[in-house]
Amino acid sequence: MTNKDLADLIFPNITKTVEDYEKIYPERDLPEGVYVTRFAPSPTGYMHIGGFYQALIDYIIAKNSNGIFYLRNEDTDKKREVETAVQLIMETLNKYKIIPDEYEYKEEIIGNYGPYIQSERIEIYHAFIKRLIEIGRAYPCFCTKETLEDLRHNQEEKKMRTGYYGRFAKCRSISIEEAINRIKNGESYVIRFKSLGDFNNKIIFEDLAKGRLSLSENDIDEIIMKSDTMLPTYHFAHVVDDHLMHTTHVVRGEEWLPSVTKHIEMFKAFGFKPPKYIHTPLIIKKEGDSVRKISKRKDPEASMSYYEEKGYPEMAVIESLMTIINSNYEEWHNANPEKTFLDFKFSPKKMSSSGALYDLEKLNNISKNYISKLTKEEVYNGLLKWTKEYDKEFYELITKYEDYTKNILNIEREQKKPRKDYASYSEVKGQIFYMYDELYNPSTYEWVNITDKEEINKILNIYIDKYFDVTDKEVWFNNIKLLTDELGYCSNMKEYKENPDNYKGSVADISTVLRVALTSKSMTPDLYEIMRLLGKDRIIERIKKLEEEL
Ligand code: GLU
Repeated sequence: MTNKDLADLIFPNITKTVEDYEKIYPERDLPEGVYVTRFAPSPTGYMHIGGFYQALIDYIIAKNSNGIFYLRNEDTDKKREVETAVQLIMETLNKYKIIPDEYEYKEEIIGNYGPYIQSERIEIYHAFIKRLIEIGRAYPCFCTKETLEDLRHNQEEKKMRTGYYGRFAKCRSISIEEAINRIKNGESYVIRFKSLGDFNNKIIFEDLAKGRLSLSENDIDEIIMKSDTMLPTYHFAHVVDDHLMHTTHVVRGEEWLPSVTKHIEMFKAFGFKPPKYIHTPLIIKKEGDSVRKISKRKDPEASMSYYEEKGYPEMAVIESLMTIINSNYEEWHNANPEKTFLDFKFSPKKMSSSGALYDLEKLNNISKNYISKLTKEEVYNGLLKWTKEYDKEFYELITKYEDYTKNILNIEREQKKPRKDYASYSEVKGQIFYMYDELYNPSTYEWVNITDKEEINKILNIYIDKYFDVTDKEVWFNNIKLLTDELGYCSNMKEYKENPDNYKGSVADISTVLRVALTSKSMTPDLYEIMRLLGKDRIIERIKKLEEEL
């Protein structure tokens, strides 16, 4: 009985060999210095910001070098409905235009290195496991859960390193005959990798982000194939897939760093060259004076759906993530405001090693700035798209009053220093609702200095009777000044500041009365523009209604 007999017993139908697959998936025909990256999420039905962050890095690395960015769905922990989860991943990447060059979606495979869904690659993994068994580098392990728990307890009691290694790797020494018999008897087993490493030996591992690390060699006989599904574990699938798909750079969470020596040993067992690794820091956030890991359970912003629901422009979200991907991004972008993140040269060395601090306030600033620079058409289209999904009522209104809405959105826009008022599309309605009679139904008015009802009525009436004019901004303002003087307020702010006691108030107070009367708000964008767009009829109507209420 030989290893080959054992391998044939376990995989009787696997006829293709490692060499066959090497031929099916040949080296990519790419020039030197062109990188291949992949985003390899486990489809869970939830898109974590940390995953998207990694995808973004993968994408930039590939695009920086004119290389390939592909998507691989790692569904070997198959307990959930994968299809909708894959859909979520694809839709998110598409939304942000982080489009993979190769992927598998809705039964269509784009690219020559597929399938790109791991559960569809089971025969490939089996061929590779079969090879390891044949060469004596993998073996069936029959240890039950209980045996393994006992082992762990024993090791813990003796204060030894826990794990299935060295003399603790019981099933290593089972003879081929015995293994064959036990399998034939229907005993349940997993396949383990047989490590040749020595934990006391150090190897130098170079992580592109974290630098040179001295790590203990792996000596754990890791499980590479599960018993029930015969699917590979992450560790093994990683080695096979990233080899066959010719990934040059693996970007993945730092939680995988402790496993990297296992992976390197497995690559070596096949005689393959491992890829380069970039282990990314955790995304963290401030909480009080300390920082903590961003949490799926506690923080809505941990999910990419948050940004969609709030209506943040995709580019603003990308920009905010870029600032935590590379510490020099912001400076670069300030110096090159016309360029996009795709022009930026990513450097793994400029990644934070202690955690990437994400901050919604920062996102809001970036987003306000971004939206302020859009044209009215662009904001309108962004708003249309968002409201269509999340606010039907407003969607219908802005569709009905398309030009009017564009003019509203254009107030203090398309100029050198545009107004930065919206961080997301969900904020727009709350800031311009008063421009629509359908939405304007104030129950409170934010009166400021002038609060006396009779005084307010008087100001408004005289304004409408004698001074209303919105054909020209200068004339408009001059009229307000005339009104101001007529009523005993001061139209010259400088003079007013010097002698406030000589007057009932200032031109600013008068304007505020008009502003509040027409919008209910004490702070709005340019009042002249608002009044011009509202028009005389609507203004008179609002003032009349207000008078009735006062
Ligand atoms: N499927 C793994 C995860 O979601 C991917 C790690 C990797 O990128 O290799 O954590």
